[in-house]
Amino acid sequence: MKRILWIAVALTALFAGCATAEKEKDAYVLMISLDGFRHDLASMANTPTLDSLRAVGVYADIAPCFPANTFPNHYSMATGLHPDHHGLINNTFHDTELDLPYAISNGEARKNPDFYGGEPIWNTATRQGKPAHVYFWVGVEAKVGGVEPELWYEYDGNVPFKQRADWIIEALHRPEAEIPRLVMAYFEEPDAVEHSYAPDSPQTIAMVEELDSVLGYLFSSLRTSPIFDKLNIIVTSDHGMTENYPEKYINLYSLLDNERIERVVDGVPFYLAPEEDYIDEAYEILSAQPHMEVFRREAMPEQYHYGTTTSRITPLIVLPELGWRIGYSERDYPPTPRSATHGYDPFERDMQMIFYGAGPAFKKGYTHDRLFQNLNDYLIVCHILGLEPAPNDCVWEDIEGLFAE
Ligand code: AMP
Ligand code: ZN
Ligand code: ZN
Repeated sequence: MKRILWIAVALTALFAGCATAEKEKDAYVLMISLDGFRHDLASMANTPTLDSLRAVGVYADIAPCFPANTFPNHYSMATGLHPDHHGLINNTFHDTELDLPYAISNGEARKNPDFYGGEPIWNTATRQGKPAHVYFWVGVEAKVGGVEPELWYEYDGNVPFKQRADWIIEALHRPEAEIPRLVMAYFEEPDAVEHSYAPDSPQTIAMVEELDSVLGYLFSSLRTSPIFDKLNIIVTSDHGMTENYPEKYINLYSLLDNERIERVVDGVPFYLAPEEDYIDEAYEILSAQPHMEVFRREAMPEQYHYGTTTSRITPLIVLPELGWRIGYSERDYPPTPRSATHGYDPFERDMQMIFYGAGPAFKKGYTHDRLFQNLNDYLIVCHILGLEPAPNDCVWEDIEGLFAE
């Protein structure tokens, strides 16, 4: 209890003097992504730092873009574009024009700028004379458009969280003229622990509390930064998470003529490329299946903004009902006892996640009740830093209520 109060007092004191700070000209942004931080995780754990951030700033439950997976969403947060418009249409896909695969685990693909469209926020800032530091983010290692931020690190999940906090602390304690205007940092939890143990497991709660205490250490250390009263802090995420059960599984293998399937990409959503003259029949067969929906690439529901990147999106996309999984295997699926995943309809409550914003640009003690998608982070950062945004899919009306007058 003592600690909660201490952090709340510290943060309030820090942000109180902010009204006097000059606006965009003098603004700084620290944006942190906590992978898979579902909207309700903080309420299930003891999170004094996040609670304090909320008390002195804004909070919103937000939605991912389609598909609700890590790579498309981090790059949407960076570019303000839907995945169909920036090209990273899923964590894994095959580009039939480049004739190249893209996958999280494929370092060569991750570094190939041909996969990445749009203008990431670190490029928008850098081009407009506002230096950026990026301590891990999807896309930064590709040097999109030949531009790279002043400082960036290649993703390494072995770097301890405290070390990542220390990078930020060091950057924001430089002599004022050398402090980057934009700092971005990524933490791969609580996603990984939720996948293994479920979102409401003791392991997830413990991880949420560990992340909260790393943030507590970080924010209290930032109090001595020369720019603290001009700093805007955003803590957000890429998607939520939902629990899976072994019995909620559909194996498509026996339903289809396997000789006529050219490619499948496992996961949620599940991607299927039948031979050209088998697409209609495969669509009809799959349409009759319960607990899933099959979409033709060119007829996706409008709210997904998806389907035009025909070199990367397969002709059919199968979206299981929340909690269900799709497979394509000759063998019976080996059921995993208890696990969780994401990638479902972004407008399902379980897929939704957190947005905290605190600092001079944001209202204080305000909860935003208008659901917005995380690609709007791009416009939020542009607005705070006074940057001219590149063409984007952001919706100003969805986010304008977050800002202080
Ligand atoms: P997923 O849960 O499959 O959507 O992906 C989450 C995983 O993506 C994390 O556990 C990280 O290991 C990995 N990841 C996140 N960012 C990067 C990156 N920039 N480079 C490589 N892997 C990453
Ligand atoms: Zn993720
Ligand atoms: Zn995940």
